[in-house]
Amino acid sequence: MPNIIAAISTAQAPGGIGVIRISGPGAIEVADRVFFAKKKNKLQEAKGYTAHFGEIRDEKGEKLDEAVVTVFRAPHSFTGEDVAELSCHGGLYLLRRVLSAVYAAGASPAGPGEFTRRAFLNGKMDLAQAEAVMGVIGAGGEQALRAARAGQDGALSKKINSIRENLILLAGDLAAWADYPDDDVPQVDENLLKDGLFRAKNTLQELLATFDTGRILREGVDTVIAGRPNAGKSSLMNLLSGCERSIVTEYAGTTRDVVEETVLLGDVPLKLADTAGIRETDDPVEQIGVHRALGRVENAQLVFAVFDVSRPLNDDDKKLTEALQGVPCVAIVNKPDLPAAADEDYLRQNFAHIVFLSAKTGDGFEALKKETELVLGTAGLDPAAGVLFTERQRNDVRRALEAVTEAEDALLLGMTLDAVTVSLEGALSALMELTGERVSDAVVDSVFERFCVGK
Ligand code: GDP
Repeated sequence: MPNIIAAISTAQAPGGIGVIRISGPGAIEVADRVFFAKKKNKLQEAKGYTAHFGEIRDEKGEKLDEAVVTVFRAPHSFTGEDVAELSCHGGLYLLRRVLSAVYAAGASPAGPGEFTRRAFLNGKMDLAQAEAVMGVIGAGGEQALRAARAGQDGALSKKINSIRENLILLAGDLAAWADYPDDDVPQVDENLLKDGLFRAKNTLQELLATFDTGRILREGVDTVIAGRPNAGKSSLMNLLSGCERSIVTEYAGTTRDVVEETVLLGDVPLKLADTAGIRETDDPVEQIGVHRALGRVENAQLVFAVFDVSRPLNDDDKKLTEALQGVPCVAIVNKPDLPAAADEDYLRQNFAHIVFLSAKTGDGFEALKKETELVLGTAGLDPAAGVLFTERQRNDVRRALEAVTEAEDALLLGMTLDAVTVSLEGALSALMELTGERVSDAVVDSVFERFCVGK
């Protein structure tokens, strides 16, 4: 029988309210030992989904705080077990005192992600949905939140299951043929088989592409602003700094593991820290010029290449243009308010994504947002269609794709249908691992290790 676990479920920082969650058979009795309701009622007699006001006292009877306790009855709780949530004042020291009292009353410390793990083990959600919980917590923008929420609602699982069903049908046909080759079982229709494998392959490939786009929305992109001196880099930087700030968290983490502050351009978090140095000096010689930027742009996730349209393009502009071939980038034709002297045709020929933007006034900013989303592919992401969130999910989809490709090859090469069956089974097992239906404890451990305590 699982033991009773407890942890602070709100952030490890002072806040208005802090919540301690207790879960497991007997969790409500534990809460009763530390909580004394104003109305003198016992929580053990309370129904699920009820809230109670009273005092929290420690084992010596000393009052620690006033609190509201919410009671959830199994299976109608996050974990699927009996749960009591103590909403106290949000001081960290206070919360730790209350937590100690809860331990003294019979609960044990919860491990990382243990509440969500129990939700998974109790069938409240599958493994992909559990991973999406972290995405919801870590979302730094609207699209990322939508994708994570869809994942939590089962969008990815639905997609995986539909691929699986398709593969199971094919495997079923093959099995009938293998078991009763001489009987009156209809021949395996190789065209149907090929068709089914082809569709599965396409869907898996589409899913794989969502990983990178999803990651951009979750974690942001390292963005380099490049251009010759006086092109308008600092002005662009200032313009972008006026955008809403975004808290980008590493996927594994939550708001507790803030990596850096970034700005949100539309839905895309841009990590501009890299180029912050540009603002440190007004001396053009000191600024990060094209020569220094060149090395960095080639490996950048996104480059804003700034050109001054009021001056003819020079060698620096051309070197930058050359360095940017094949790099995700938006060319910004700056100072459109001034008479044009630069060769715009040259820029149009060399850049697929180009915007006329005044870095000084912000005119053309919407176009920059739009082009950026196009370059990064975030514009085309449909969260409801299922998005891969973690490396683990990506690896499982890759394995499934490899296996389906093997099955296809086996058919093309005229190998026995047994070989096709073996590959199909490999694909199915990878997909079942993704949703957690057939998964080792070690994999489950590694998923929840990445969560923080209290989740
Ligand atoms: P950097 O050297 O690339 O960082 O360029 P700055 O951002 O310092 O800009 C150089 C000069 O161009 C400054 O005097 C800016 O005020 C000016 N500038 C920037 N953007 C515009 C614009 O859109 N129109 C005009 N007319 N001037 C601009």
